[in-house]
Amino acid sequence: MEISGKKTVVVGLGKTGISAAVFLRKRGAQVTVSDSSKDKNLDDAAKELQAIGINVELGTHSSSSFLNAEIIVLSPGVPHTIEPVTRAAERGAIVTGEIELASRFIKEPIVAVTGTNGKTTTTTLIGNMLEESGLKVFVGGNIGKPLIDYAESENRADVVVAEISSFQLDTIKTFRPRVGVLLNITEDHLDRYPGFDAYVKSKARIFENQKGNDVLVFNASDRYILQVSGNIKCGILPFFKDSGSRDYEEYAKISDDRIIFNLNKTVNCLNNEATGQTSNTGANFSLSFSEINLPGKHNMENVAAATLAAFAAGGNQIGIRRALKKFRGLPHRIELVAEINKVGYYDDSKATTADSVIKALEVFRNPVILIMGGRNKGINFSLLKNAVMDHVKKLILLGEAKEEIKSALGETVETTYAVTMDDAVGLAHDAATAGDIVLLSPACTSFDMFTSYAHRGEIFCKAVEALKRNR
Ligand code: ADP
Repeated sequence: MEISGKKTVVVGLGKTGISAAVFLRKRGAQVTVSDSSKDKNLDDAAKELQAIGINVELGTHSSSSFLNAEIIVLSPGVPHTIEPVTRAAERGAIVTGEIELASRFIKEPIVAVTGTNGKTTTTTLIGNMLEESGLKVFVGGNIGKPLIDYAESENRADVVVAEISSFQLDTIKTFRPRVGVLLNITEDHLDRYPGFDAYVKSKARIFENQKGNDVLVFNASDRYILQVSGNIKCGILPFFKDSGSRDYEEYAKISDDRIIFNLNKTVNCLNNEATGQTSNTGANFSLSFSEINLPGKHNMENVAAATLAAFAAGGNQIGIRRALKKFRGLPHRIELVAEINKVGYYDDSKATTADSVIKALEVFRNPVILIMGGRNKGINFSLLKNAVMDHVKKLILLGEAKEEIKSALGETVETTYAVTMDDAVGLAHDAATAGDIVLLSPACTSFDMFTSYAHRGEIFCKAVEALKRNR
């Protein structure tokens, strides 16, 4: 992609937008960064960019910048369907994302992880497994550092591991991961796609350009993935949970108490030409759930996928086991915050889809007092009916979506409204008896009351800690 002298617009003044703008400017482009927000917190970043000759517009997407643009680079959270972008595209502007742009400047093999849920956990695990196997790794994309930072830096890694969202996949053209991972596809972001089919197709683009010796690790028990798996044109490493498609061999299978790997036949296709490492797969082996410090069977899927991907990218069994021994999960994902009067308080603020809430509920045998709510991003809350019926003793609802959730689930379980997170935690405490679980797993985004899922989780933790102090 020719950049020098081109009129470019970067949409979104977040971490990725800033990196992309600097990258383009250094390569001689005329750059405007456009963000519809007027937030004062953006002012400092805007000044820094202006100082190096980048034009910044805040609080609007002005039509003049967009209509003159030759290249538009979208930040990860920005859909390509917003009006100024579609109009510029109609006039011939190239619309691209940071992942596509960065990947054109990265020579090292890329391991790219997508799916509705589990991306961050799996991406982190793959990075740790490869590092423990002695490789130099850059982990980024939707987590940590933008990929464009890596493209820009002098430091070279053996392997790049990237978390990729569906919005990022929407604007790829040539993006071709050496190893792709497709974890699962369930209902999400239906507020931003014309329908579920469009969302499934977007996720399937992870393997669109993969071919030959590339490898796709995928969940062969996921019915929506199986609907698109006929289009895969590269090597495959399918993993299975309870049951799956008979069309595929089981390279990893999750049983009742372990993950069984069958890698006998894959040694050749797992050789990593780019790093010169040969995968020492260890052929057939298993990982017992007791070796893995993560809750729930869904995390066993993440571990199965991460292990297969790590092997495919040059990792070895010793490194993989070492990484698993050290990894205790990420904050705000079914994280035990405290135990008060024999009641466990868990923060799962990152759960913004129905499926992730179901998976969290399935972790617990004891009755759950569930705190849910926030801003709905197009989720059908009745999908939670069975899981709520089986696990939930009381539902405490917060935020914009509380009435909608009540009408979907109110007949299934006793339901109360709370105004603040402190209020919700207090009500949960009053309802709990020894042995119960209090779980924040919202099935909604946080933006009606908090700045992010992490902020929401921190406020929950503070409320629980205050409860502990005052008890
Ligand atoms: P993502 O980056 O895709 O949002 P995370 O690893 O951050 O994924 O986890 C987000 C939420 O999804 C958490 O609530 C977590 O417990 C849940 N989760 C993690 N892995 C899975 C999975 N494989 N299937 C369903 N839910 C999952």
